[in-house]
Amino acid sequence: MQEQTSILNYIPVDELTGSIAVPIYQTSTFVQDAPGVHKGFDYARSNNPTRKVLEDLIAKLENGTNGYAFASGLAAIDAVVKLLKAGDEIVAVDDIYGGAFRLFTHIYEKFGITVKYTDSTDAQNVADAISDKTALIWIESPTNPTLKISDIRAIAKTAKQHGILLCVDNTFASPVSQKPIDFGADIVVHSATKYISGHSDLIAGLVVTATQELGDKIKFIQNASGAILGPFDSWLAIRGIETLSLRIRQHAENAQKIAEYLVEEKLVKSVYYPGLKTHKNHEIAKSQQKYFGGVVTFDLVVDDKDLAIKIVTATKLFKLAESLGGVKSLLCLPCEMTHKSIPAEKRYQSGVTDSLIRLSVGLEDADDLIADLKQAFESATATATEFVPAWKTNVEVTSEVI
Ligand SMILES: *Cc1c(COP(=O)(O)O)cnc(C)c1O
Repeated sequence: MQEQTSILNYIPVDELTGSIAVPIYQTSTFVQDAPGVHKGFDYARSNNPTRKVLEDLIAKLENGTNGYAFASGLAAIDAVVKLLKAGDEIVAVDDIYGGAFRLFTHIYEKFGITVKYTDSTDAQNVADAISDKTALIWIESPTNPTLKISDIRAIAKTAKQHGILLCVDNTFASPVSQKPIDFGADIVVHSATKYISGHSDLIAGLVVTATQELGDKIKFIQNASGAILGPFDSWLAIRGIETLSLRIRQHAENAQKIAEYLVEEKLVKSVYYPGLKTHKNHEIAKSQQKYFGGVVTFDLVVDDKDLAIKIVTATKLFKLAESLGGVKSLLCLPCEMTHKSIPAEKRYQSGVTDSLIRLSVGLEDADDLIADLKQAFESATATATEFVPAWKTNVEVTSEVI
């Protein structure tokens, strides 16, 4: 069945009333017929009918057995790390989401869980990093903000050989585009704040497991730690998912056009987008993603933060804000916003320069978005006369695409 049909077909009609929209069960507890005799729900931290629709839905979309909804993407990540014990080690992608880095380093290291970071775009690096303490491999593909791609099949094979769990943060791809469990991952997490919800109107996280046994463990952690998603936010996430496949397709179509325009733009040195044939792991991306996503990142021909600031404040359709995955286009300057807490040297190692700009391409008309970027480049250069000699006259720019 086509993805959009499946998604809509997976959302149940309310049995009690026939309501086509999933009801919001705004309740803390459920009346019991006799002690322990109830309709499957006793207390809303443990289980809530609205949340359960979302949890079953994401499990189906990711081809997993069980799904769980959390108060944020980080709460979902936190629940997965709680599967580990003191002395265990995580091997993680070096380009990891900053919040996951902060959680691993500043919360879990003090409980005796260590983390080794490696460039997982080469699967061999992951195999080489594994020790007898490794209990979990953690990757994101594509990564933020430089859209690095890791070979999920190859890394899953390594994980299986060593009897180690593989968790994939699938936030950037979404289940419409990529289903890591099909490639051998054990666990998938999402910041549902992004594409899953899709409208920049809530914070939420999801975990999906490949087996019932792992699902039972996550369920225990969810109930024991308590960072559940509330019924109204669960409902918003469900409503977002109803249009997920349409949105992902359009985000990707717009992003591809914008990436191709940026390659030709004189002020742009590098364009990071897995849909470009020149992307380092384009072939791997093609083999595991149906669409290449809605995030496009680019670097300027001069590493000049002031110029980058002029550009990001000159756009009109692209709004300057952190986050991504919503219907409205956003852009950000990672060095001053999402990646500000990372020391400059480490930031530069992963390609996040002072002039790197990240676009979250929304669902406006692609030509309007390109026109918006063009006018921003023009207005930034018009007011930045001091830079003119450096990059307008003497440089013959060949857009290098990574
Ligand atoms: C935003 C994000 C998170 C964190 O999610 P929150 O919902 O903000 O807690 C985790 N991973 C990735 C890849 C993200 O982009």
